[in-house]
Amino acid sequence: MISLNRRDFLKLSSLVGGGLLFFRPSAKAGLYTPHYEKPKGEIKYYPNICSFCSTACDIKVRTRVDGKFKKPQKIDGNPNSTLNRGRICARGQSGIRTVYNPDRIKYPLIRVEGSKRGEWKFRKATWKEVEEYIRKKVQEHNIQPHEFAIFAGQRACAYERLGAFAFLASIGSPNMIGSPMQQCVMAEHAGANATVGTMTSHDEILVDMDNTKVMLVVGSNAALTGISVSRAVRFAQGKRNGMKVIVVDPRMSETASKADKWIPAKPGTNMPFLMAVLRLIIKNEWYEEEFLRRHTTAPFLVFDNNGTPEAFGQNANPEALPFAEKYYVYDEFSGEVVEVEGFTNDNIGNKKIKPALFAPKGLTFQGKPAKTAFDYLWEAVKDATPEWAAKLCDIPAKDIEETAEMLGTIKPANVYLGWMDGRYEDVVQARKAAAIINVLIGGVDRLGGWIYTPELREGMERFHKAYESGQLKNPMNLLMATAMAPGLLGMTGKLEGMMYSGKFPMFRGYPHFSRAYFDYRAKKEGKKGIPFSLFTNAGFQEAVEGKLTWNGKPYQIKFAYIYSTNPLKDYYGYKSWVKTFTNPNLKLVVVDEILPSDMAAFADVILPDKTYLEKYSSIMPDGPNSDMAIRMRFPSVSQIGDVKGGDEVFCILSNAIAGKRGGDYFSASMIISQFTGWDMKTVSKEYALAWRGKKPLYKANRDIALSEVSKKLGMTSKQLEKALEEKGVLILKKKEELMEEAGMPYKLPVPTFSGRVEIYSTLFAHFNHAYGVDPHWDPILKFIPFEYKKGAGLDYKPTGNEFFFAFGKVPEMTYLTTADNPLLHALVERHKEENYGFWMNPKSAARLGLKEGDKIEVENTVSGQKVKSFVHITEGIREDTVYVMSDFGFQNKKLTYASGKGVDLGRLIPYRLGPVTASAMSCQFTVKIRKI
Ligand code: SF4
Repeated sequence: MISLNRRDFLKLSSLVGGGLLFFRPSAKAGLYTPHYEKPKGEIKYYPNICSFCSTACDIKVRTRVDGKFKKPQKIDGNPNSTLNRGRICARGQSGIRTVYNPDRIKYPLIRVEGSKRGEWKFRKATWKEVEEYIRKKVQEHNIQPHEFAIFAGQRACAYERLGAFAFLASIGSPNMIGSPMQQCVMAEHAGANATVGTMTSHDEILVDMDNTKVMLVVGSNAALTGISVSRAVRFAQGKRNGMKVIVVDPRMSETASKADKWIPAKPGTNMPFLMAVLRLIIKNEWYEEEFLRRHTTAPFLVFDNNGTPEAFGQNANPEALPFAEKYYVYDEFSGEVVEVEGFTNDNIGNKKIKPALFAPKGLTFQGKPAKTAFDYLWEAVKDATPEWAAKLCDIPAKDIEETAEMLGTIKPANVYLGWMDGRYEDVVQARKAAAIINVLIGGVDRLGGWIYTPELREGMERFHKAYESGQLKNPMNLLMATAMAPGLLGMTGKLEGMMYSGKFPMFRGYPHFSRAYFDYRAKKEGKKGIPFSLFTNAGFQEAVEGKLTWNGKPYQIKFAYIYSTNPLKDYYGYKSWVKTFTNPNLKLVVVDEILPSDMAAFADVILPDKTYLEKYSSIMPDGPNSDMAIRMRFPSVSQIGDVKGGDEVFCILSNAIAGKRGGDYFSASMIISQFTGWDMKTVSKEYALAWRGKKPLYKANRDIALSEVSKKLGMTSKQLEKALEEKGVLILKKKEELMEEAGMPYKLPVPTFSGRVEIYSTLFAHFNHAYGVDPHWDPILKFIPFEYKKGAGLDYKPTGNEFFFAFGKVPEMTYLTTADNPLLHALVERHKEENYGFWMNPKSAARLGLKEGDKIEVENTVSGQKVKSFVHITEGIREDTVYVMSDFGFQNKKLTYASGKGVDLGRLIPYRLGPVTASAMSCQFTVKIRKI
């Protein structure tokens, strides 16, 4: 067991790669003659991208190179990076320990004949054997493309996305389960995305903390100071520049501890808090009138369509994407209703009109009473007084009033949404409310506000040009172009056109299995589909059980490939996932991992993945950076065991699965060429080599990217590669320049279906037509008075041993790769109680007769699930709430450091899908605590 403090850790992290940590006998005892042997080789620095969280920091790895042998010694932040500004966190520094982790899976493994999934009985195999094994299983069970599904986790989503899409296209399967999409991005951001049109990553729209004066942080730990360096450096700079921070959180998080004001509102009450703030901003006219009139859907004329707001002009065809030819506004100059263009960034265009934010009383249009979307917004919040919200949030009304006044009167200000927040069924409307506040106070694509990423600008520039030139008039073109568009447009196009339609030629007439599941659910349970469930696992269990059909034929999943994700723990409802993965209908389970995850134990075949320090990459954008920059990975470690990266595995699997059908690299090339804009001829030539095993796919992608990007930059591929190797990251344009040239919505449309920032969401109105009217996807704003449990609404006050539940993240851990890292583990162990136990307020603990460290049983009052833990007593949590860290609870005994530590939330939180995005409603229950 290693035990060390933070200072020791920093010292040690520079030594671990040099192998200086082994025990030396004492020279005094005469057993050892000290001598100094000069280490062989020279020191080189290789640039890379940290893979331990979605921040994806730019790093440089100090490496000793001796001929072909490379050994990393220390990881530091890349000083050329404007993303993480040369800094990294403890997780980032500890990466070398993941490479040399003794628990690592170093060779392919095949489950021993006659053993059961979950038993961990594997034999060592070669890659050839594995390929043959998979090929045989596919043939033996006649597994068709749509009967295959990939669970694409963090590494597949963040770094090998192109390879994963190419692979699916090559085998003709529509079934991707995008774990980060469903559990993180979609789960939380859909409400904000619908407003500003983003949808690319956790930080697709960046908060410019350097320049803001006031920031409201809403979330259980908005990931600023503890979790993500790119946010932390901005937060620190903002604080130095005088930024005032208000944090709403039931727990004293790292962010709250550094805030000017901590408002410990009751868990699940973000929505009433935000509605009350919004009401005060509108009532006091603290909004940016000109911006709202000109660049948003606030002035759109709207009518009441059977109880839900709908814009005049809204495309009501449930089968088509919701583009419209025109909308209508009331012009205050002429006193008339006038048409405005359907897809633009401008409500005014060349006409001299002044769209009204509030319609004149009694206005009718097309024979119906007409109001503006802004009128509707006011109606949605007009009764949300600070006193009403304060009662539900259990905080003083004054806190709400002061927050609204600061946001409304001090410029620039913004609302920071964070991520990994508590999730309730109102999360989409709550985040929509937060986004609307940000829009009202003028915080879109301006210094101090939310700033779009360069990729969104570039993508919109391409899409807008094609739209303007009329190239997209044909609905099929529009569908294809939308699927390739950035942000919300792109994701909606992919979802509706490719994944859900069942008409996309590449997938041979089959939709994603979730579409078949929603039909099944509608028939059996009368429940509607979940409209924005992109890359969801919804219906996977039913598909394995053989309950689904498509066009009258069975739609079963028989082969699951799980790459860098741990469904048993992370998708909640542990038992139901074990049942699914041990179902004999599932003929083949292949897990691709670095370390022996809980999921790996349930595999038939385990494939050993490379760590990021062993990988090359293609040219990549600089993560969530508002400057335009490119970067690339260069390996700094000699090959360990017989491991292969995801991009290499995709080709092997593709040939094993679809080999007989020809492993369709041409379809793969086509889809990648459309996604990236790369030349189709070059892509197909390189992909042919990759699919024939003549060149690894990562190298093919890298060579294509180097050739395409170098042309744009006016240099050769070699020159570009050299520059990237020297600097790691090349800054091409600063955010100020980008905003000046391609400000959104000032110069370009934003990626929404109206091209404007949407107070009235054209997409949510479309969901009303396609899926039926539902307040969860109200196009403007709707209060969702959910129940924590039956009969326990938002005014519920738990008594006795019952508590609200909250969870969050710890700065030292993110995924399995960090949880089993000995250095990080040693840091975590220094605060065991805080990290592994349930936080409880001293008053509550006294009431229950509990002392620090007492063992407890925690029971979910909705699902009946129970876990055992212990109590950590702290003032940093409300009296009616308990809190626990979500990063622990791994069970696989092969994990030396992580196994059996902390709580597996998969065993406390039930598998329950949220209504809009199919994300887990992970905190919508209460728990009972008993001393054991
Ligand atoms: S914040 Fe830390 S873990 Fe995340 S990418 Fe940066 S260095 Fe790695």
